[in-house]
Amino acid sequence: MTPPPLILCLSGHDPTGGAGIQADIEAIKANGAQALTVITAYTVQDSHNVFEVQPVAADWLRRQLDRLLQDCAVAAIKIGLLGDAAQLSVITDTLRRLRVPVVCDPVLRAGGGYDLAVAGLPQTLIRQLLPQVTVLTPNAAEARRLVPDAVTLDDCGAALQAAGCEHVLITGGDEPGDRVRNRWYPRRGTLQLFEWPRLPETFHGAGCSLASAIAARLALGQGVGDALRGAQQDTQRWLAAAFSIGSGRRIPDRRP
Ligand code: PLP
Repeated sequence: MTPPPLILCLSGHDPTGGAGIQADIEAIKANGAQALTVITAYTVQDSHNVFEVQPVAADWLRRQLDRLLQDCAVAAIKIGLLGDAAQLSVITDTLRRLRVPVVCDPVLRAGGGYDLAVAGLPQTLIRQLLPQVTVLTPNAAEARRLVPDAVTLDDCGAALQAAGCEHVLITGGDEPGDRVRNRWYPRRGTLQLFEWPRLPETFHGAGCSLASAIAARLALGQGVGDALRGAQQDTQRWLAAAFSIGSGRRIPDRRP
């Protein structure tokens, strides 16, 4: 039996299981790949919001990555919540060694409103990480935060590409309107729009699920366009089947 491709996930732990590393594991498994999981931070949260974040020491990440990567050949990398700026240099060193697709979901703010961006992190992210990113998946608010002087989302997409990442998918789940418009700025060519009907509920963990599904699909050999389209279909299906675990937002049911 051929083993599944391995996706290295660097993400936070969310005890609700909706977002973070559990979202990665489930979305990757549903796509027939296997997650290798390195936790960047622990969080206190419920289905409404995040309340506290405790980063894991950067040196601990380095030791986990060194040991794991001597043994296992990863086919793609997914980066989610970063605990602090010190973790960035460990992660960029690792990316330099591994020449595989990198999907980065720049988690800067929880859907419930909690600010997940460590002081100075958006600028540091742009400088250090973006040149090594294959697909960046900010939502509209995160794209604006990463490029504060941009006037339009198209300006954000252009600036993020100019900072070095190959493809940018700005998701529109956090924008108003009865259609969700996701904007793909491809490495070559012009903007492509993906449109989805807006589902009636609110969700926790959609962005993590999408980014992980993209990483799994790239690892399985799909081109970027197919991976983006397929991962959005996955996410739309998982959100349509989402369920409540408390009195806040629903969490996706990430079935194959
Ligand atoms: N907690 C962790 C560990 C996350 O990675 C994220 C988002 O990626 C969140 C919380 C917030 O998720 P959401 O904005 O979907 O509520």
